[in-house]
Amino acid sequence: MWIGAHVSISNGLTAAVETVAQLKGNTFQFFSRNPRGGKARALDPEDIKAAHELMKAKKFGLVVAHAPYTYNLASAKQSVRGFTLRTLKDDLLRIKEMGIPYLVMHPGSHGGQGEEKGLALIIEGLQEVLSDFPEEVFILLEGMAGQGTELGYNFAHLATIIAGCDYHPNLGVCLDSCHLHGAGYDLSDFGRIKEEFAHVLGWEKLKVFHLNDAVFPLGSRKDRHAKIGEGNLGLETIKNIICDPDMQNIPIILETPNDNTGYEREIALLQKICS
Ligand SMILES: [Zn+2]
Ligand SMILES: [Zn+2]
Repeated sequence: MWIGAHVSISNGLTAAVETVAQLKGNTFQFFSRNPRGGKARALDPEDIKAAHELMKAKKFGLVVAHAPYTYNLASAKQSVRGFTLRTLKDDLLRIKEMGIPYLVMHPGSHGGQGEEKGLALIIEGLQEVLSDFPEEVFILLEGMAGQGTELGYNFAHLATIIAGCDYHPNLGVCLDSCHLHGAGYDLSDFGRIKEEFAHVLGWEKLKVFHLNDAVFPLGSRKDRHAKIGEGNLGLETIKNIICDPDMQNIPIILETPNDNTGYEREIALLQKICS
């Protein structure tokens, strides 16, 4: 099992790997730049090299970058779409240089234009990015809870976007247990959710899983993460997800409201739950 947490890379990639190794994790996620979309720091080739050596020594799985929350390819504003496209392209080049395969991105919010228009704008933007794309990296669309005018809260939305991009091989999906629960997918029967995902999208499209408990009940359309076992999902449901044989080669990332001590405790709990 590959399990880890969202951590900061403000002290560099190697320091992040050291932190995760101390937490006894073997994968992690970090923001590709400031989550509000600020300037990205210059990359240090020495740091990247040292980080990869350490990850190899510690037998890490695949690592994940997360795009800023300010990205919105579905915005009605040309300026917001333009900013998203420019920074997204830059993020992809950066993570390629960092040797990181995945960039998770929220599909976008239509802001009142309607779902059809919003999805069409996302497809238009992604087509442009994918036309000139570093082959080694993947954009992963994250399934959302459906707050406000958020798109991507059901598998059909994600499938529409991927089909609109002609099933580009570098386009995949990241699921989040809290978002799924908020969107109304009942994870107490994970087998059924898996079947539905496989039917609508194809299981191989799932590349990353965010593991969070949920503060609000099933179908609330609200996105508020809870600590593992302390929310509406509960430990039994979480166990069924992470112990599933089909989840063993998928990075499982905690984004629970914790400091590093809390993450260490959750990682230890989850590692022993399947054995
Ligand atoms: Zn996210
Ligand atoms: Zn998430």
